[in-house]
Amino acid sequence: MSALVWLRTDLRSKWNSAIDYAVVNHDSVTAVYFITKEQWDTYNLSSCKVALIYQRLANLQKELAERNIELQIIEGSLYQALPERLKDICTTNGVTHVYCNAEYEWDERQRDLAVKNILKEINIPLAMFHDTCLVKPTEIMNLKNEPYKVFTPYFKRWLDKTLQQLPGVPDNHKASDTGLRKSANDSIPIDSLLKTDEMEISEQFSTNWPTTAAQITKKMNAFIIEFAPAYPKNRDIPSVEGTSKVSPYLSIGALSPAQCVFHVLQEYGDDALSPDHGAYTWVKEIAWRDFYRYVMYHFPHVSRGLPFQKYYQHFKWESNQHHFDAWKAGKTGYPIVDAAMNALRETGWMHNRLRMIVASFYCKHLLLPWQWAEDYFMSQLIDGDYASNNGGWQWSASVGTDAAPYFRIFNPTTQSERFDPKGEFIKTWLPQLEHLSAKQIHEPSKHCDVQRIGYVLPIVEHKASVMRTKEQFKGFLAAL
Ligand code: FAD
Repeated sequence: MSALVWLRTDLRSKWNSAIDYAVVNHDSVTAVYFITKEQWDTYNLSSCKVALIYQRLANLQKELAERNIELQIIEGSLYQALPERLKDICTTNGVTHVYCNAEYEWDERQRDLAVKNILKEINIPLAMFHDTCLVKPTEIMNLKNEPYKVFTPYFKRWLDKTLQQLPGVPDNHKASDTGLRKSANDSIPIDSLLKTDEMEISEQFSTNWPTTAAQITKKMNAFIIEFAPAYPKNRDIPSVEGTSKVSPYLSIGALSPAQCVFHVLQEYGDDALSPDHGAYTWVKEIAWRDFYRYVMYHFPHVSRGLPFQKYYQHFKWESNQHHFDAWKAGKTGYPIVDAAMNALRETGWMHNRLRMIVASFYCKHLLLPWQWAEDYFMSQLIDGDYASNNGGWQWSASVGTDAAPYFRIFNPTTQSERFDPKGEFIKTWLPQLEHLSAKQIHEPSKHCDVQRIGYVLPIVEHKASVMRTKEQFKGFLAAL
C-alpha cells in the first residue's frame, strides 16, 4: 500500500498530520507539491512570497528525504489541471491512498472536491486532516449549533478546546521505507526554480527569512523565550522588535499553529493560557488567525469578494484612482501612513499596528474600495494570507465580523504620536523628514514647506474626511 501526501500550504515535514498519518500507516510514502504559478497570479501572490515558497521547498525536500520521503515538485499551472495530474501520478506509481491537510478557501475547496471525485473513479480515497488551524472549524459552534460571528465568544471556546486537547509532540520520527516507485518525469529540479531571473533571491532576504525547519523553530523559540512575556507592552510599537514575525511561515505552513502553542506551553506551562501572562496575548493572536479561517469555512461568501455583512455590497466606495496611487506610493502627506507603505514596498513586510493605521486611513479617510487594497496587500506581502488579509480588510472597512463600528475612525496623527512618539519608524522610511523634531514629524506640513524638502501636502483633510465618511455610512444604513 503506497501513500501519496499532497502538500499545499503545509510545507513542513514534522507537525504535519497528513505526513505523520501516512508514515505510520503505509510502508511506502511519497510527497508531491504543485507549483501553480498561473493560479497564484490570479491571487496576486507577491514575488517575495513566491521566493519564500521556493526556498522553503528546497529545504523541505532535504528534510523529507531524511524521513525517506521523496518530494516531487511539479509544474501545475492552474488548479483545474490538478485532478488529472494527480490521477496520472497515482496510476503510474501504484498509489493506493492520497493524504492532505484541509484548506478552507472557496477555490481550494472546489479544487479538492474535483480531486476527490476523480480519484474516486479509480478507487483511491483522498483523506483530509485538519491542522491548518489549531481547532478544527466544525468543533466550535454556539448553543444553537451555529457558527459564531464574533471573536470573543469564539475565543472562549477556542481556549477551552485548546486546554482540553493541549498540543503534544506528534509521532514524527518514523521514517517511510521507500519513495515513489517511479519518479514523475515532469518533476522540476528545485535548483532551476531558485535560479530564474524573476526570482532574484538576495542574501538580505535569506538572512531575514531563513527557511530550514531548524532556523524557523529557532526564530519562533527565541521570540517565545525572550519577547513573549513583554508582548502586550511592545507589540504596538513598530520601531521595536515586539512581535514574532512568524506570519510568513504560518502562511505557507512551514510552521503550524499547534507548534506555536506547543512551544509556548513547553516554555511557560498552562499558566501561559491565563490572561495575566504575556504569552496569552500572543496565543490570542494565533486564535485570530484560526478565527478568520473559521469564518471562511462557515461563510464562504467572504472568499468570493463579498463583505461578511452582505448588505454592505451596495455601499458606495469612491473609485478614486489618484488617491489609490498616492496611498500605494506613500504620498498621502500623513507620515505614518507613507512610511508604512514605503516599508511594505521595500521589504514585503508591515507591522500589525501599521496595517491597521494604513487600512483605516484607506477605508475611512479615502473611502476607497477595500477589495482594491486587499489585492494590493497580497501583491506586496511576504505573509500574504487570504483569510487573515481578507479579515483584516473587512474589519478595517467595518463590513466584516467584529466590525470596527464605522464611526470609530483612527486619527493618523494621534496614532503616530502614540505608537511612534519619537518618529523613529517614520525617519527610517521617510528620510526627508529626518531633521524634524519629535513634535513636528507627525504633521510636517504645519511646521515646514514640505514640498521643498521632497515631501507632499496631505491629500485629504482629517476632520472633513471623517465627517464625510460618517455621513456616508449613516445615510447608507438609514436607507436599508
Ligand atoms: P505576532 O503579533 O507575533 O502574532 C503571531 C501570529 O498571530 C501572526 O504571525 C499571525 O499568524 C497571527 N496574527 C496576529 N495578528 C493577527 C490578526 N490581526 N489577524 C489574523 N492573524 C493574526 N496576517 C497575515 O498573516 N497575512 C496577511 O495577509 C495579513 N493581512 C492583514 C491585513 C490587514 C489590513 C490587517 C489589519 C492585518 C493583517 N494581518 C495579516 C494580520 C497581522 O497584521 C499579521 O498577522 C501580523 O502583523 C504578523 O506579524 P507577526 O508574525 O509578528 O505577528
